[in-house]
Amino acid sequence: MTPAPAHVHVIGAGLAGLSAAMQLLDRGVRVTVHEAGPAAGGRCRSYFDRELGCRLDNGNHLLLSGNRDAYAFLDRIGTRDTMAGPGAPVFPFMDLATGERWTVRPSQGRLPWWLFSRSRRVPGARLREFLPVLLLRRRGADATVAGILRPGELYRRLLEPLAIAALNTPPDTASATLLGAVMDESLALGGAACVPAYPRDGLSESFIDPAVAWLISRGADVLLGHRIGNLGFAAGRVTAIGDRPVASDEAVIIAAPASVAAALVPDLLVPDRFEAILNVHFRCDADPGEAGFTGLIGGTAEWVFVKPGVVSVTISAGNRRVDAPAAELAAEVWHDVRAVLRLPDAMPAWRVVKEKRATFAATPDQDRRRPAARTRWPNLALAGDWTATGLPATIEGAIRSGCNAASALLAA
Ligand SMILES: Cc1cc2nc3c(=O)[nH]c(=O)nc-3n(C[C@H](O)[C@H](O)[C@H](O)COP(=O)(O)OP(=O)(O)OC[C@H]3O[C@@H](n4cnc5c(N)ncnc54)[C@H](O)[C@@H]3O)c2cc1C
Repeated sequence: MTPAPAHVHVIGAGLAGLSAAMQLLDRGVRVTVHEAGPAAGGRCRSYFDRELGCRLDNGNHLLLSGNRDAYAFLDRIGTRDTMAGPGAPVFPFMDLATGERWTVRPSQGRLPWWLFSRSRRVPGARLREFLPVLLLRRRGADATVAGILRPGELYRRLLEPLAIAALNTPPDTASATLLGAVMDESLALGGAACVPAYPRDGLSESFIDPAVAWLISRGADVLLGHRIGNLGFAAGRVTAIGDRPVASDEAVIIAAPASVAAALVPDLLVPDRFEAILNVHFRCDADPGEAGFTGLIGGTAEWVFVKPGVVSVTISAGNRRVDAPAAELAAEVWHDVRAVLRLPDAMPAWRVVKEKRATFAATPDQDRRRPAARTRWPNLALAGDWTATGLPATIEGAIRSGCNAASALLAA
């Protein structure tokens, strides 16, 4: 049995790397984080947008109260109270074709009583449409979301938008098993696990900057602008990180994106297909309503978030629109935003942000390509939302992957 390492190099300061570093420091291990970019956060970060003259998140991120590892992370760095939201399981929707508005309010407890309540459910939904949700994880690893869930109003007006948001993949190719895993930790547990929340000020303010400060205050070295271009391997272990030797009591966690990990590690199978997420930000004020966001059915925009001075829209499973000109997308999306928020015709200043490789495509074949945290080298572990967490690429998956990688090294 290999003793636990005295010093671990973590490659990548996204949520997975930060989470791994925190676990290791908690266990008394020295940590150095190597981050290629000028700031930490990776795909979950905020920045100042000069054109709009305000701070933006790279994309709207929604958390659910059932995301237990994400909340443990926030509790550890002391930022749970920086999350905003309705404080209750509340999901407002609007159907753009009919103009109907409704609010889904899942009831407490595992039995879906809300499906019977006119004031809580999706209009036109039938109970029998909900039953296949229970089968998502029972139909084998090849099953797709659209292959299991039944067409109907519950699907079109709730399950499909939730599936696209959680998996960032079109339902006809998305893995039913992965959606089942999300459902098991949210809707299947009842309303208490379905309280939505988002950062009040920004992703970096809630998740990233306090985590980096937490690490540094406990003695970690966080090196920004420090890209690792190669690892050395000899005698069954990692022996070099960049041009620095890795001592016998040191280890490495790769928490960089899948393609970087594949370039650093020989013969590593990783997901190799990705889906985009597009965000359109408008510089205007609007009424945030009860939840601070609204789901849109039948539009280009899918989720509209209202923050002070900014309205931001998410388009998930975005490969189909990623090449559309930005001005065309903004105009199309403004049409939807105007309708839902009852805003004037004139489009305010806007900005389109395209994250082309936002997440791996959450299909059954890509899910099979996800490696475990533990590798065949005892002093090397893998983290990242693309590793085999059993969840799709989410904040919860990324944070859990960091915990898994730290555990793999500590238990090696
Ligand atoms: C637009 C958008 C919207 C999203 N919405 C949601 C949502 O609503 N809810 C949700 O739960 N999740 C959401 N996600 C997913 C979530 O953001 C990701 O799953 C998570 O941030 C991934 O974290 P990670 O640490 O695995 O990877 P990354 O964030 O990609 O971190 C990898 C880090 O490694 C660094 N790196 C790369 N190469 C090197 C190298 N050679 N040397 C050193 N460092 C290197 C990178 O710079 C980066 O900082 C969204 C993602 C996007 C893009």
